[in-house]
Amino acid sequence: MSLTARLKVGFTVIIILSFLLGYTGFLGIERVKTAFFTVRHLTKVLYYVFVITYHEDLYLLNGESRYKTEVDKLTSTLINYLERVKSERSIAGKVERYVAFLSEDETRGTGIVYDLVYKLVLRVTNLNEKLDEVKRGNLGRTFSSYTEKITKRLMGAGLSSEVLRLEYLKDEVLQTLDPKLVNKIEDILFEIEDKVKDQTLLKEIVSYKAILRDFRTALADIVYTLNSYRELSKSLYEDIWREMEKQTGNTERAIIITMLVTTVLFILVLGSAVMVAYRMVKVFSTYFRETVRILEEIKQGNFKRRIRYRKSDGEFGVLAQDFNEIMDILNENVGFIIEKSKIALSTKIMKIGDTCIDTNNPLVMARRVVEALVDLNKYKSVIEDDYSKEEIYRHLYRVLRDKFGITRVIMLELNESKNRFEPVFAKDVADVPVDVVVNPNICRAKRTAGIVDPLDFPDVCPYAVDEGGMFSVCIPIMMGGEVKGIVKIIESVEKRSQLVDNMPFIVKYIEMTAPVVYAAKLLEVTREQSLKDGLTGLYNRRFLDSYLEKYISFADRKGFIVGFIMIDIDNFKRINDTYGHKNGDIVLKEVARIISGCVRSSDVVVRYGGEEFLVVLPDVAEGKSELVAEKIRRTVEMTAIQIEGKVLHITVSAGVAEYPKHGTDPYQVIKFADVALYKAKKTGKNRVVVFDEKGMEGVLEGMDIPSADKETDTSSDSPVDV
Ligand code: GH3
Ligand code: MG
Ligand code: MG
Repeated sequence: MSLTARLKVGFTVIIILSFLLGYTGFLGIERVKTAFFTVRHLTKVLYYVFVITYHEDLYLLNGESRYKTEVDKLTSTLINYLERVKSERSIAGKVERYVAFLSEDETRGTGIVYDLVYKLVLRVTNLNEKLDEVKRGNLGRTFSSYTEKITKRLMGAGLSSEVLRLEYLKDEVLQTLDPKLVNKIEDILFEIEDKVKDQTLLKEIVSYKAILRDFRTALADIVYTLNSYRELSKSLYEDIWREMEKQTGNTERAIIITMLVTTVLFILVLGSAVMVAYRMVKVFSTYFRETVRILEEIKQGNFKRRIRYRKSDGEFGVLAQDFNEIMDILNENVGFIIEKSKIALSTKIMKIGDTCIDTNNPLVMARRVVEALVDLNKYKSVIEDDYSKEEIYRHLYRVLRDKFGITRVIMLELNESKNRFEPVFAKDVADVPVDVVVNPNICRAKRTAGIVDPLDFPDVCPYAVDEGGMFSVCIPIMMGGEVKGIVKIIESVEKRSQLVDNMPFIVKYIEMTAPVVYAAKLLEVTREQSLKDGLTGLYNRRFLDSYLEKYISFADRKGFIVGFIMIDIDNFKRINDTYGHKNGDIVLKEVARIISGCVRSSDVVVRYGGEEFLVVLPDVAEGKSELVAEKIRRTVEMTAIQIEGKVLHITVSAGVAEYPKHGTDPYQVIKFADVALYKAKKTGKNRVVVFDEKGMEGVLEGMDIPSADKETDTSSDSPVDV
């Protein structure tokens, strides 16, 4: 069962138990309240019954009518009270009764007692009626008058003692209403009958006897009613008492039961709450502790630990399972990244190990190796854009300095003949070891194609630096499977461990540099061999194309202005015609030499066409190209060329344009230089004209000028191989 489901069950149990607890309390209170209510009513009824019977007794004793009036008043009050109680039934009262499972008797006092009360009231009324009949009614009067009549007659007959007894008994009967006294009267009458001879008197005695019988019956009835009234009142007292006792018992029981049940329920509620809370706290604390423990381990770099969980822990189990799965993925992928990155970072002469990534945390490790890869990649794309070998070595030095804090470096490169090491870069180093320079084969790093670290193995290299707390490490530069150079790092001994840690990365940078240098070297050779014009030794247009392709982006980055001077020999056809083609070639060579002599070694002179030359000034101050062109023009003009013992003077015309001032495409700018040259020819030759769009309107018309945003026509032409 899930934790939420279990929580729901737990809370439902608690809610039900709490409800029961409250309900039990309510029941108990309701029962106690009802019992008190009943006792109150019974007490009131008891009081009335007592007062009624008291007055009734007084009435019976002395027959004073005020007592009877009092009894009547009290009985009607009692009946009214009972009727009122019966009809008192509010809706709330009814609901209470049903909800608390109380009987009608309980909520209304008690029906049994009330029935008895009604009976008692009836008896009392009945009794009083009968008493009235006997004492003040016909029956009593008839009895009295007959008795008086008989006694008068008996007095006449001389039976005075019997008369006295009869009169006494008559008063006694009326006083006590005892039917036995009537019997006594009858007994006296029997005695008298024996003594009396008078027939009339005897007849009167007989009719008196009949009256006596009726009277006795009435008295017996009163006695019976009185007895039943007394019994009723007695049993009413008893019933009221019993009811009151019962209600008191009910109260006690209700209190005890309520206390017991509420205590049990309270314990159950408390127990359930404690159990739910305990279970929750246990699960929470277990998983929190476990998670904190694992996270702590993750922070330390241990991705292998997993949260222990039980499926029965519901959502926590699921969370733990998910967490573990994430850890699996993380562990696997981070491991993969590290492994692959390490492979990518490893070099032929050095494998990358964990120690050089100076952390136990795989994530940090992954970050470092990826960072290293990104940096290497950036470095590679930078050096690939470098124009010269020297620039590449300079960039390598910068990386060694900025990334690894290395300041003293010598870089040696094996020459083409493989018999010398040429120092290609030296920073903060007093001298380069001459022995090694002139005899590369004595270099251990060159021979072994491995890193030479004298601190790793003392005296391993006699040319190693070992003074003033300094030491040196030599790393071979491998090109095409051969050692083609050496990077010698000189560092203070304290920095050695840092250097050793960084060594795989340093080697990787060197390894990455090597093929780029190799390519640059090859390019140099190729340039030398195939990109030059055979006649003049100047660069040809193929070189120009590849040069521009690489250089222009570099110039853009640096913000350089590139000057283009297009030069054409004036009236060259005539020279050819006059002196022959061979001498024409000599003139061409001479002009090429003059032009090369007028410009810097970093400037590029191209034989652009038959007797046309293009000078590229890679980094010129704005407007200065014209001066260079003018210098060339003047020098040619001033130079005397010897041909077949004759002195020849020639002139050239030049057109000048600058990139990016005149155009955003170098070929367009070259064309503009050509346009300017055309103008120079048109305006009299032997002059320099700078391209000016306004001044060239007539010239530009109909010319095929490459635009900056489309592939240039000139470049798409196959270069003229002259
Ligand atoms: P302009 O002043 O207008 O330039 O007159 P130009 O005679 O120099 O004009 P044009 O361009 O008509 O002549 C160029 C000549 O150069 C034609 C061609 O025979 C010659 N030429 C081209 N290449 C070579 C070469 O390699 N050697 C020799 N000797 N002559 C060449
Ligand atoms: Mg010409
Ligand atoms: Mg020409």
